[in-house]
Amino acid sequence: MQLDKASEVFQSAITAAVPGRRGFDYLIVGAGFAGSVLAERLARVLNQRVLVIDKRPHIGGNAYDRHDDAGVLIHPYGPHIFHTNSESVFDYLSQFTDWRPYQHHVLASVDGQLLPIPINLDTVNRLYGLNLTSFELEKFFASVAEKVDPVKTSEDVVVNKVGRELYNKFFRGYTRKQWGLDPSELDASVTARVPTRTNRDGRYFTDSFQAMPLHGYTRMFEKMLDHPNIHVMLNTDYRDVVDLLPWQHMVYTGPIDAFFHFKHGKLPYRSLEFRHVNLKQDRFQQVGTVNYPNDYGYTRISEFKHITGQEHPTTSVVYEYPRADGDPYYPVPKAENAALYRKYEAEADAMANVTFVGRLATYKYYNMDQVVAQALTAFKRLQERHAAAEAE
Ligand code: FAD
Ligand code: UDP
Repeated sequence: MQLDKASEVFQSAITAAVPGRRGFDYLIVGAGFAGSVLAERLARVLNQRVLVIDKRPHIGGNAYDRHDDAGVLIHPYGPHIFHTNSESVFDYLSQFTDWRPYQHHVLASVDGQLLPIPINLDTVNRLYGLNLTSFELEKFFASVAEKVDPVKTSEDVVVNKVGRELYNKFFRGYTRKQWGLDPSELDASVTARVPTRTNRDGRYFTDSFQAMPLHGYTRMFEKMLDHPNIHVMLNTDYRDVVDLLPWQHMVYTGPIDAFFHFKHGKLPYRSLEFRHVNLKQDRFQQVGTVNYPNDYGYTRISEFKHITGQEHPTTSVVYEYPRADGDPYYPVPKAENAALYRKYEAEADAMANVTFVGRLATYKYYNMDQVVAQALTAFKRLQERHAAAEAE
C-alpha cells in the first residue's frame, strides 16, 4: 500500500518533469516547521524539486491543528502559542498567514488558589495575603533566596532567585511530573524558560511578536507547501521508500538516534499523552492554560478557544499526561544526554548528503520560532552550496 502511494507520487513527479532533470533534488523527512520551511525555500528560491515525506497522516508536525467533531479548532499535540523576538522569522511566516494578536496567560493551582505563573508580584501577594510593592518584593526574594554559585541545574535557577518554599510550590512537583526527573537533575535552561518577575506582568511570554495564525497552523503549512515543485507523501515512513526514490540530498527532521539505528544508544525523549475533551459549555477556565504542579497525573489543562479566539457554543480542552514512552516530544536537557547527542552529531556532520534540522534531529528544546530560524539558516548554507556548485 505505502509503496503504491510512494510510486504514485514519484510517477507524478517525474512525469511533470523539468526538462533535463529527473527524480527529486531533495527528500525531506518530516512535514513540521523544519521540513516545511526548507521545502518552501528550496522550491521557491532555488527551483528545486522536493519530496516531503511524513509518517503521520497530516502536515504541520506537532504544530498541526484541526477542528474536532464539535467544530472547535484544537491542537492535537498540545497547545501551540506562537511568540518570537525575531522580526525576520515573523516576517517570513507572515507570507503564509495573517495573524490574530494573542498574549498567553497561565495560572498555577497552588494551595487552593489559581495564581499567576511566571511568579510575579501578584503571585506572592495573593499567596501570602501581602501587599508588597515591586521594590519590597525584590527584598523579599533576597531574604528567602538560597544563593547558589554557579547556577547549574533547574533547581539552582529557582531556589537562587525565590528560595525553597516557592520552588517547592510551583516548580518541584511540576518538573518531576513533566520530566520524570528531579529539577536538580536537569539543566538550568529548563526552568529558566519561566523567569520570575517583580512586576505585575501576567503574560506567559514577553516576546515582541505574539500572535496566532489567523486561520490556524495547518492552513499556514498548506500555503507554505503549495508549490508545483513540492510533492507531499503522508502516512509513509521514509525508511520504506528511501532506497526506491532517486534524490540528491536529504533533509532529516526526525529523531537523530533513530536515523543512525540507535548505534550509540537511545537518546531520551520525553513523551506526552493528550486527553482531549469537548464540553457543552461556553468556557471551562479563566485563561488559556492552568498548571497543576502538585496534584493529578496531568501537568496542565489548556482551553483552545482562549488561544484561537474562536467563538463556539461548546469548548474543547486538553489534559497533558507526561510519559516515558510514546512519540518523542521533548529532548531531555541534561549533560549526559548532550554528550550522547554529540556522538550522533559528529556522525551527522560527516554526512555530506544529509542535513539535520529541527527539535528532534538536533536534540534541542526549541520553540517553533527557533526551529524556523534554524531552518532558514540551514537553507542559507544549502543556497551557498548551490551557488558554489554552479560557479564550478
Ligand atoms: P516536528 O513538528 O516534530 O516534525 C517532525 C516530523 O517528522 C513529524 O511530523 C514526524 O511525524 C516526522 N517524522 C519523524 N520520523 C519520521 C520518519 N521516520 N519518517 C517520516 N516522517 C518522520 N513551541 C512554541 O513555539 N510555542 C508553544 O506554545 C509550543 N508548545 C508546545 C507544546 C507541546 C506539548 C510540544 C510537544 C511542543 C511545543 N512547542 C511549542 C514546540 C514545537 O512543537 C516545536 O518547536 C516544533 O513543532 C518543532 O518542529 P520540527 O519540524 O522540528 O519537529
Ligand atoms: N515549570 C514548572 N512549573 C510551571 C511551569 C513550568 O516547574 O508552572 C517548569 C517545568 O520544568 C517545565 C519548564 O518549566 O517543563 C518549562 O515550562 P514551559 O511552560 O516552557 O514548558 P513547555 O510549554 O515547553 O512544555
